[in-house]
Amino acid sequence: MSLGEFDLIARYFSRPAARRDVLLGVGDDAALLEVPADRLLVAATDTLVEGRHFLPDAPADAVGHQSLAVNLSDLAAMGAEPAWALLSLSLPAADEGWLEAFAAGLYSLAERHGVALVGGDTVRGPRVITITALGFVERGQALRRDGARPGDVLFVSGWPGEAAAGLEALRRGREPEAEHPLVRRYLYAEPRLALGRALRGKATAAMDVSDGLLGDLGKLCAASGVGASVELERLPVSDALSREHPLADCERFVLSGGDDYELLFTLPAADADALESALGPLCAVHRIGRIEALAGVRCMRDGQPAPVAVPGYDHFA
Ligand code: ADP
Ligand code: MG
Repeated sequence: MSLGEFDLIARYFSRPAARRDVLLGVGDDAALLEVPADRLLVAATDTLVEGRHFLPDAPADAVGHQSLAVNLSDLAAMGAEPAWALLSLSLPAADEGWLEAFAAGLYSLAERHGVALVGGDTVRGPRVITITALGFVERGQALRRDGARPGDVLFVSGWPGEAAAGLEALRRGREPEAEHPLVRRYLYAEPRLALGRALRGKATAAMDVSDGLLGDLGKLCAASGVGASVELERLPVSDALSREHPLADCERFVLSGGDDYELLFTLPAADADALESALGPLCAVHRIGRIEALAGVRCMRDGQPAPVAVPGYDHFA
């Protein structure tokens, strides 16, 4: 690369780690990290490929944000506290403007959540970004997909579907710079780390919505060996979404959109009211259905079965 691989790393990805558990960060052959003795290490990795996970003309700071956010969302969905990240970067050229903005977006999110970038790899190739995020959770407290039980109440956080509508707006040619709430939501969605932590020891199951609410709910149900019913009239539709789209489209975005980093979770019915109130100040949560013994996911409208067809995203479908 024109800038030189080592100059590039030194210039953009070598901010000193602000964490005392980083004994050795970027610069040696590998990082040395101090894992708390009483907790489990939680590890997640996700790859973003240009043209598939982000648009070629996406603002670089948003790409930096998203590549970390998608990983922190996985840690949030486990109830983990994030600590460290590794960045594997494949780039066609050392474009300094792009790198500067990418690093700014990545570090800004990292610093907000106390995450230290402790290493990575830099190669020339198509633009592909892989981040590995590491964090901790107390033994026995992790949120898993496999604990939902019949009778549990099903919740989703925040406003799923906004990011998918924002992406569609971009694809239709809206300028990425536009101060458009849906576009901003797509480019800079915030992982629900505080909510994930608050659900530890309380939710019977949880996962983040990355491939669409209905598809991901199907995965949660399959892992738990249960089914679920979703009350369509209870789906959260944000003002920003309903201002731009007719109700039927809003419903499609909410049920099939990913990229918002919302959490899908289940609470025991006896605790649901109290927990719902307790979570309120932290982030909006919406009761959208319940877990049932009969396998499969069923949508209901006004108490009647209401089939909807919104397949989840499958890279190899
Ligand atoms: P090695 O050849 O030993 O794998 P590299 O030259 O790939 O070492 O990397 C040198 C150092 O820079 C290592 O500590 C590595 O973790 C770090 N590093 C390389 N690329 C990145 C990156 N994109 N972001 C953060 N750290 C990086
Ligand atoms: Mg290397």
